[in-house]
Amino acid sequence: MVDFRLSTNDTEILEQVRREGLAVRKHARYFDDHEEELPPEKLPEADSFPPLNERVMRRPADDTPAATFQMLLGMARQWGDAFPLRQPPVALGNAALQAAGTPEQKTRWGSTVLSMAITEPGCGSDSKAIKTTARLDGDDWVINGEKIFVTTGIRAQGVVVWATIDAQRGRAGIKSFVVMKGTPGFEVTRKEKKLGIRASDTAALSFTDCRIPRDHLLGGDETVPRQGSGGFRGVMKTFNMTRPAVGAIGVGKARASLDFAEEALEKEGVKVDWERSRYARSAIEAKLVQMQADAEAASLTCLRAGWLADTGEENNVEASIAKAKGGEVSRTVPQGCIEILGAMGASREHLLEKWLRDGRITDIYEGTGQIQRLIIARAIFGYSSEELG
Ligand SMILES: Cc1cc2nc3c(=O)[nH]c(=O)nc-3n(C[C@H](O)[C@H](O)[C@H](O)COP(=O)(O)OP(=O)(O)OC[C@H]3O[C@@H](n4cnc5c(N)ncnc54)[C@H](O)[C@@H]3O)c2cc1C
Repeated sequence: MVDFRLSTNDTEILEQVRREGLAVRKHARYFDDHEEELPPEKLPEADSFPPLNERVMRRPADDTPAATFQMLLGMARQWGDAFPLRQPPVALGNAALQAAGTPEQKTRWGSTVLSMAITEPGCGSDSKAIKTTARLDGDDWVINGEKIFVTTGIRAQGVVVWATIDAQRGRAGIKSFVVMKGTPGFEVTRKEKKLGIRASDTAALSFTDCRIPRDHLLGGDETVPRQGSGGFRGVMKTFNMTRPAVGAIGVGKARASLDFAEEALEKEGVKVDWERSRYARSAIEAKLVQMQADAEAASLTCLRAGWLADTGEENNVEASIAKAKGGEVSRTVPQGCIEILGAMGASREHLLEKWLRDGRITDIYEGTGQIQRLIIARAIFGYSSEELG
């Protein structure tokens, strides 16, 4: 039975995450304006809170299960605007390691921060168009190619790189490899300049005859089957956790925007009455109620995707639903709040206009909203990616 009730311990952790987020929020404008600077590892305000990582790790087994809790953490963190001001101790490549790595690889790189590099100048949504190659030479893989828009690409200690070992075989030839910083031939070439989440380090990477040991192939399967997509499905499993996690960030952004709008209205003497019958609501109340409902619905899709992951059930469609809905509210709710507040919503005196820009991006990375809807449609109508692409 689905049960999202929280233990006292979990409620306290989430409340602390939210308060920490609110405490570091004062730096959000600075790092939005100074994209070239990376926020420090430790912001002084956050240091006044007891360290959380250990408390999260040591949660009793009967508390909210891990993946569901990750969703709640993402929502709470972003509610305070803490992402990307406070980087979590893992990045997207860590999810890839968990989804596709061998037990030995999980142990070896378990505490290494790994970013994930799929996107290339000529390849985004259509991942089978990847041009980066990995060629086996003796007991080394030799990687050549260019990657762009890699989240945490500067700070991470290593990266999970998608490359093809057989360009003729499309998806079946695509494998993922761990490349550590400092490996000759691997370079961070620039920090990307973006519309939003400008405090997040997003980098372009290049690989030139970059040699890595053979056992850096995630999962270790070197075969390329003549039929089907081979190990690609396994690689795609990475998204089953990361997509709902990004959806959860979108929910947090929507909630922050709604809080801001409600408080701003209250300062102007407009008290929102959530209980008022729908026939008597003002236009503003009706819009706010609708947006609250949308944010709540999106939140439940993220929790459901997490809950399925916790129970070990297939969740790839639910992960896409969560990403589609979370990405949607991260765009539409800040936009709706700006509509209500007018010029105040657009002013750089406040963060709402920033959340609108951040939210636009949340609907792009980890697969755009359009691509999620394609995946959902395929699942509903039983189409393959060749039939509906
Ligand atoms: C801030 C940020 C962080 C990122 N982090 C990472 C990262 O860590 N690692 C990484 O590898 N990548 C990352 N990306 C890249 C991101 O995943 C891609 O931008 C995304 O997958 C879309 O690819 P694209 O930009 O090439 O757009 P395209 O694929 O060229 O798409 C352009 C537009 O067409 C739409 N579209 C494309 N195909 C279809 C279709 N079949 N049907 C309908 N509509 C379609 C898309 O939805 C989009 O609106 C990041 C991007 C940003 C902005």
